[in-house]
Amino acid sequence: MSHRLCRHCGHSATESVKRCPECGRPLAPNFPRRTGALLVVAAAAAIIVTAVMVVIRDDPATPSNGTTTVEPLPTQEDQDGSGGY
Ligand SMILES: [Zn+2]
Repeated sequence: MSHRLCRHCGHSATESVKRCPECGRPLAPNFPRRTGALLVVAAAAAIIVTAVMVVIRDDPATPSNGTTTVEPLPTQEDQDGSGGY
Protein backbone atom coordinates (compact mmCIF):
# COMPACT_ATOMS: atom_id res chain seq x y z
CA MET A 1 0.00 0.00 0.00
CA SER A 2 3.04 2.25 0.03
CA HIS A 3 3.35 4.73 -2.74
CA ARG A 4 6.04 7.01 -3.90
CA LEU A 5 5.49 10.38 -5.40
CA CYS A 6 7.39 11.24 -8.51
CA ARG A 7 9.54 14.27 -7.96
CA HIS A 8 9.17 15.32 -11.55
CA CYS A 9 5.47 15.07 -12.23
CA GLY A 10 4.03 14.28 -8.83
CA HIS A 11 2.49 11.05 -10.04
CA SER A 12 1.83 8.52 -7.33
CA ALA A 13 3.55 5.28 -8.28
CA THR A 14 3.66 2.01 -6.47
CA GLU A 15 6.77 1.10 -4.60
CA SER A 16 7.47 -1.88 -6.83
CA VAL A 17 8.10 0.16 -9.94
CA LYS A 18 11.43 1.80 -10.42
CA ARG A 19 10.34 4.30 -13.00
CA CYS A 20 7.45 6.67 -12.98
CA PRO A 21 4.67 5.27 -15.21
CA GLU A 22 3.62 8.79 -16.00
CA CYS A 23 6.79 10.50 -17.13
CA GLY A 24 9.18 7.56 -17.25
CA ARG A 25 11.77 9.17 -15.07
CA PRO A 26 13.51 7.00 -12.49
CA LEU A 27 11.97 7.28 -9.09
CA ALA A 28 14.05 8.12 -6.09
CA PRO A 29 15.29 5.13 -4.17
CA ASN A 30 13.36 4.06 -1.15
CA PHE A 31 15.28 6.33 1.15
CA PRO A 32 13.78 8.14 4.10
CA ARG A 33 14.17 11.64 2.84
CA ARG A 34 12.78 13.11 6.03
CA THR A 35 15.64 11.71 8.04
CA GLY A 36 18.09 13.19 5.62
CA ALA A 37 16.37 16.54 5.79
CA LEU A 38 16.42 16.41 9.57
CA LEU A 39 20.11 15.63 9.50
CA VAL A 40 20.73 18.58 7.22
CA VAL A 41 18.68 20.86 9.44
CA ALA A 42 20.45 19.61 12.55
CA ALA A 43 23.83 20.12 10.94
CA ALA A 44 22.89 23.61 9.84
CA ALA A 45 21.59 24.45 13.31
CA ALA A 46 24.78 23.13 14.89
CA ILE A 47 26.87 25.21 12.52
CA ILE A 48 24.79 28.31 13.23
CA VAL A 49 24.96 27.78 16.99
CA THR A 50 28.71 27.23 16.81
CA ALA A 51 29.15 30.36 14.72
CA VAL A 52 27.06 32.40 17.14
CA MET A 53 29.03 31.10 20.10
CA VAL A 54 32.30 31.89 18.36
CA VAL A 55 31.10 35.39 17.58
CA ILE A 56 29.99 35.91 21.16
CA ARG A 57 33.31 34.67 22.50
CA ASP A 58 35.26 36.67 20.01
CA ASP A 59 33.43 39.85 20.92
CA PRO A 60 32.44 39.64 24.59
CA ALA A 61 31.88 43.35 24.89
CA THR A 62 28.31 43.95 23.92
CA PRO A 63 27.68 46.97 21.78
CA SER A 64 27.12 50.00 23.97
CA ASN A 65 24.27 51.09 21.80
CA GLY A 66 21.10 50.78 23.85
CA THR A 67 22.67 49.01 26.81
CA THR A 68 22.93 52.05 29.03
CA THR A 69 20.29 50.64 31.34
CA VAL A 70 22.69 47.94 32.52
CA GLU A 71 24.97 50.48 34.19
CA PRO A 72 22.84 53.11 35.90
CA LEU A 73 24.14 56.58 36.19
CA PRO A 74 25.23 57.69 39.67
CA THR A 75 22.49 59.51 41.43
CA GLN A 76 22.90 62.88 42.97
CA GLU A 77 22.94 61.37 46.43
CA ASP A 78 25.98 59.25 45.66
CA GLN A 79 27.90 62.20 44.34
CA ASP A 80 26.92 64.24 47.33
CA GLY A 81 27.94 61.55 49.84
CA SER A 82 31.42 60.90 48.40
CA GLY A 83 33.29 64.12 48.31
CA GLY A 84 36.68 62.52 47.70
CA TYR A 85 36.19 62.31 43.99
ZN1 LIG B 1 6.74 11.18 -13.06
